[in-house]
Amino acid sequence: MPTQKTIKNWVYNFDQLPNLISEVGTDYDILKSLLGGKGCFLADMTKAGLPVPPGLTITTQACNYYSENQKFPEGMLDEILASLKKVEQKTGKTFGGKINPLLVSCRSGAKFSMPGMMDTVLNLGLNEEIVNVMIAETNNPKFVWNCYRRLIQMFGSVVLNIPDEPFEEHITAVRKARGVDSDVKLEAADWQQLAHEFLKIIESFGQTFPADPFKQLEMAIQAVFASWNGKRAIDYRRAEGIPDDLGTAVNIQTMIFGNINDNCGTGVAFTRNPATGVDEFFGDFLVNAQGEDVVAGIRNPQKISELANQWPEIYQQLLDVRGKLESYYRDMQDIEFTIVNGKLWMLQTRTGKRTAKAAIKMAVDMAEANLITKQQAMMRVTPKQIDMMLHPQFSEEEKEAAKKQGRLLATGVNASPGAACGVLVFDADKTEEFGKTDLGTSLPEAIEKITAVAEKLGIKLQANESILKIKYTPDGKIKSINPSVIMIRPETKPDDVHGMLAASAILTALGGATSHAAVVSRGFGIPCVCGCDALRINLSSRTVEVGDKIFSEGDLVSLDGGDGQVFSGALTLSLPDFAEQKDLQKLLLWADEICADPKARGDKPGLQVWTNADQPADAQIAKSFGAQGIGLCRTEHMFFAPERLPIVQKMILASDAAARQPYLDQLLPEQQKDFEGLFEVMDNLPVIIRLIDPPMHEFLPPLTELLVEVEKLKIADPKNELGEKQKLLAAVTQMHEANPMMGLRGIRLGLMMPELIAMQVKAIMQAACSVAKKGITVKPEIMIPLVSHINELKKTRETLAKVAKEVVANSNVQIAYKFGTMIEIPRAALTAGEIATEAEFFSFGTNDLTQMTFGFSRDDAERGFLLRYVEEGILPESPFQTIDTQGVGRLIELAVSEGRKTNPNLEIGICGEHGGDPASITFCHTAGLNYVSCSPFRVPVARLAAAQAVLNAAK
Ligand code: ADP
Ligand code: MG
Ligand code: MG
Repeated sequence: MPTQKTIKNWVYNFDQLPNLISEVGTDYDILKSLLGGKGCFLADMTKAGLPVPPGLTITTQACNYYSENQKFPEGMLDEILASLKKVEQKTGKTFGGKINPLLVSCRSGAKFSMPGMMDTVLNLGLNEEIVNVMIAETNNPKFVWNCYRRLIQMFGSVVLNIPDEPFEEHITAVRKARGVDSDVKLEAADWQQLAHEFLKIIESFGQTFPADPFKQLEMAIQAVFASWNGKRAIDYRRAEGIPDDLGTAVNIQTMIFGNINDNCGTGVAFTRNPATGVDEFFGDFLVNAQGEDVVAGIRNPQKISELANQWPEIYQQLLDVRGKLESYYRDMQDIEFTIVNGKLWMLQTRTGKRTAKAAIKMAVDMAEANLITKQQAMMRVTPKQIDMMLHPQFSEEEKEAAKKQGRLLATGVNASPGAACGVLVFDADKTEEFGKTDLGTSLPEAIEKITAVAEKLGIKLQANESILKIKYTPDGKIKSINPSVIMIRPETKPDDVHGMLAASAILTALGGATSHAAVVSRGFGIPCVCGCDALRINLSSRTVEVGDKIFSEGDLVSLDGGDGQVFSGALTLSLPDFAEQKDLQKLLLWADEICADPKARGDKPGLQVWTNADQPADAQIAKSFGAQGIGLCRTEHMFFAPERLPIVQKMILASDAAARQPYLDQLLPEQQKDFEGLFEVMDNLPVIIRLIDPPMHEFLPPLTELLVEVEKLKIADPKNELGEKQKLLAAVTQMHEANPMMGLRGIRLGLMMPELIAMQVKAIMQAACSVAKKGITVKPEIMIPLVSHINELKKTRETLAKVAKEVVANSNVQIAYKFGTMIEIPRAALTAGEIATEAEFFSFGTNDLTQMTFGFSRDDAERGFLLRYVEEGILPESPFQTIDTQGVGRLIELAVSEGRKTNPNLEIGICGEHGGDPASITFCHTAGLNYVSCSPFRVPVARLAAAQAVLNAAK
């Protein structure tokens, strides 16, 4: 934003929007950056013929000039006075006038909504003399004196920086003296007395309240400009990533009063239910009150729907406006309105914030009602919102019920989504020790054990199921149970990460959405609520005070990182049933259509979403989530099965191919069974199976362990095992590699032990033939990992193609199968043109490709320096989370274009963890990939991200 004026005026009346549009066009983004969100939409509603109290907007350019020069730009005040004249003509009132005086509000409003961060002053234009004029005109001294004291109070705190407490103390004192419990019951004389006391308070701070309405206005404008650079506003901008040079606009608007009598009122509403997305008018309303009273919660408001009976005409007006706003903005709006003697006035509208569930429902409903297109619907939902729909959650009903029981403790910043129940622990070490405790796999035993473990650590708790973190296998069996810990800290530091990793959730009192706690939690997918300033944490007593409640270590709380709410006790977590989420299903089907639509995808293939699945159960889940193929089945997991491992070990230790063969013969039928299951689930869909990848020593006991055992056996060897163990030790020592990730693995291993991968290919093809015979369409694709040189692939493929051909020839079925390779070594990417002559498909293994391109060892880096790198901004994010487009991405682009040059039919995908990351998915589409493959639970997220990538690229 330049601090010079680039448009004609510093000031525009609300009804001059057409003038501004003729200067800068109709783009809301530009209009909002000049008029602020509030000013833009007040002007826009005026243009649409909605009832908006007349007013004017001072542009953000004036604010920026003020920030730079500490004074108003020349001519601005004159423009304000001229615009104010127009407001006076419209309203028939005069600012500072002795007849029919005009009062105005001075409202801040930046391009992006910054709730509560900047200031607003109401009722400007009053002084002792004008108070008397208004009393004579309205015959309502109680109302007028109340307006006056509000002005003095707000002016005092916002413009003159006087603390609010002395004002509130005086109000409380008068209430006490009158023996009433609420402000509404105070009378004219009380408000008059308070107004005069307030003037004295201001004087006691060495300031004066200006009686001149124009002076009031000028000072209020200055204060709003200055509030842009207030600490609160700056902190908020840092947290939200809002640039500092946008500036705020200032809106001067005719005051209207919802607090004159019982025929008036004010309210805040959403055009649809922001929690559920249901198409119903939703909001709160107060009779005889001013705007801020609803939000401030002075009295309990009524539900909007109750107005239908009480004030049918007003309710009808509101419904009309609701309809107009939605058809005009084509999105759910969040509005402020006030009713004066039966007439409705609109004071604000903006796009309403919503839950994930509501976002999806509203997008689908509005597209089906033709209010928006399917493409627009696609852009209304974020990948993060889809993700939230698949995590265990507290239902809205559950949270409402807890609120009714008074269990909502506080609301902080919703830093990382996900819900959790757990016991409070106040430091990282204890969180790690407790959180990592293995409690077995039986619920009753775990409940018994947890108390003992907690006691040892000095944690007092009540054992029940809610404080257990239970993980399940894909087929629903308990995989592990650990204590569920909510780590609570004033803030977190790099030293706390070990604890955070063991926690079910993180809760902090300080810091915003970009604090350490927030960034790290999001990075690791741990639910987090931070900046929860209602918490008074006492680290020495290990307690936390919230309002009038005190919680100790071991007490049970529940938190929802999606909306920042913290509750006492347990809330029920439920895994949402995807099959029941009809709106989400619909949206994702549209996403698939967009990806496949030649018009939308242009010259790109359009991404499909496949899945990484090793077992039929995983494949089943992924398919129900809409996966269109398996992009990676890792065969080594099958070797680790306890009943197979001993055979695998003997196979590895065999002295030569002939000695190895009997063990391979034993493994063959087992492998074949695994693949049959996968093919059956993935009827008519491609299944990419990767041949063995890790180094063989991973299947043998670790060297250090063996060394110790052998030493022990040398001292005592009752079962006479020393000889065997020594042989094993010798073999493992011989296989030991300094750098196993770059050692004998992948295709290199296949070349050294061709009989091993020949067995795998035989198992794959026999499985395919036998399943095909059942009438199921199988599409096996055999993937050879870790190629770096074309000759490796040529030789391997020759051997394997022979095996495959033989199996098919021996069965009586026709099967289409492919051989392909992974591109995960920079040399393979650089020579992709050559490699593509020997491959029918490429799959980018971006975990290895990133490791090898950066020269980072992933596991070590992620536990070590990489976190510092991200914290210190050396890297913008971990390249293992989001593809490094400049480095790794360039290799991918090169491999795609050179590969397709020599093999135009090359099918290309990605199977690293990046396949589920929205930013990386965007890259994959522009790079021209056919599919991304990700873990089953990421499939829905990836489907949306893929469609968004297509739509963004088309823009
Ligand atoms: P915020 O951005 O903090 O909501 P606003 O500028 O919207 O601040 O104003 C605070 C409250 O005062 C709101 O409830 C608003 O509706 C009310 N208000 C602002 N200007 C007027 C006005 N001219 N007449 C009546 N109420 C007003
Ligand atoms: Mg507002
Ligand atoms: Mg790899």
